[in-house]
Amino acid sequence: MKQTPYYFYDLDLLDDTLNCLKTNIKATKFHVHYAIKANHNKEILKHISKAGLGADCVSGGEIKYALDAGFSSDEIVFAGVGKTDAEIRFALENNIGMIHCESLQEIEVINEIAKETGSVATIALRLNPNVNPLTHEKISTGLKENKFGLTALEFNELLKVHQELKQINIVGLHFHIGSQISDMSVFVELCDRINELVPAFEQSIGELTYLNVGGGLGVDYYEPELNPIPDFKSYFEAFKTCLTISEEIPVHFELGRSVVAQCGSLRTQVLYIKKSETKNFAVLDAGMTELLRPALYNAYHKIQKLEAVTSEPSLHYDIVGPICESSDCFGKDIHLPELKRGDIITISSCGAYAESMSLNYNGREKVQSIAHSSKELISDSTLV
Ligand SMILES: *Cc1c(COP(=O)(O)O)cnc(C)c1O
Repeated sequence: MKQTPYYFYDLDLLDDTLNCLKTNIKATKFHVHYAIKANHNKEILKHISKAGLGADCVSGGEIKYALDAGFSSDEIVFAGVGKTDAEIRFALENNIGMIHCESLQEIEVINEIAKETGSVATIALRLNPNVNPLTHEKISTGLKENKFGLTALEFNELLKVHQELKQINIVGLHFHIGSQISDMSVFVELCDRINELVPAFEQSIGELTYLNVGGGLGVDYYEPELNPIPDFKSYFEAFKTCLTISEEIPVHFELGRSVVAQCGSLRTQVLYIKKSETKNFAVLDAGMTELLRPALYNAYHKIQKLEAVTSEPSLHYDIVGPICESSDCFGKDIHLPELKRGDIITISSCGAYAESMSLNYNGREKVQSIAHSSKELISDSTLV
């Protein structure tokens, strides 16, 4: 048996997900960039770049991952509220397609660095549309109180100076309001805000030739087997029907979670069962270092015993990891068939924001991953 814990990726499901996504944007001017931060596993990146998606990066390191995986530089977009000078220089030298700018000072710094490198930077302005994404507060990004995007104040300041920034070409707008959004009315509201803001952009800056609406489509963490592929149809339909801008303008999307979450799971084994007067604890060999979301956002992941027999009696368990933190808990009072030392547990929907968020806290080493495809041999990889 494979040493646990490890990430298990179902590349067939990834391919089905990518095919469904592509079917829903056929015959449109929609372009999808995969948000690398969701998972930068090499095998996964290779599949996604082969499928023809672009890449959305939030650091110089992610731009490197994207280039190494075969994404072409003009299909890469670069966002982030705190880009360093070195990252900006790296992006300009590699002719990255678009830089999404989040503050006036950042735009001035890009102007300076572009002057030094003898280039003109093509940028889009990330605006904070103040739309409530109706999701967990820690993954909301498009509300006034969030740190992301140019504020209205900064936008007005930019209008006074943008013509003096000779190395900057402002071509459009970027938005990203949050993650794990399941209520499509949120995207309708985003479209309404965009419809208001595009004429304002065109009056004050110039013709808009680029629009990026970000990512954020949610997945079903409760029933991953019933809903392995997110509802791309309703998602893209919302933008098709609600955006009133010219159909000639390309619309870019940045989807992370919805592309990869359901194709991955975390396989781990029970180290110990321990009982108190009121509780049963199952201590696993995986912890918050391999899957941080429950500790960070109280996120729910479906936990199952692998190869469970339904006739087995079931008990309630607190499913915990080995890390020295009380928040290192994957679920409380989880109903599972009776567990014993050595049982294999699978935690679903770990394709996004699990491996990419892994930590070496407590001296933990990076765990392995297995990418499985029915069309190719099983490949094992230790990941960087
Ligand atoms: C994280 C992020 C995304 C992807 O979000 P998902 O919820 O995974 O789709 C897209 N754009 C930006 C700017 C991000 O920071």
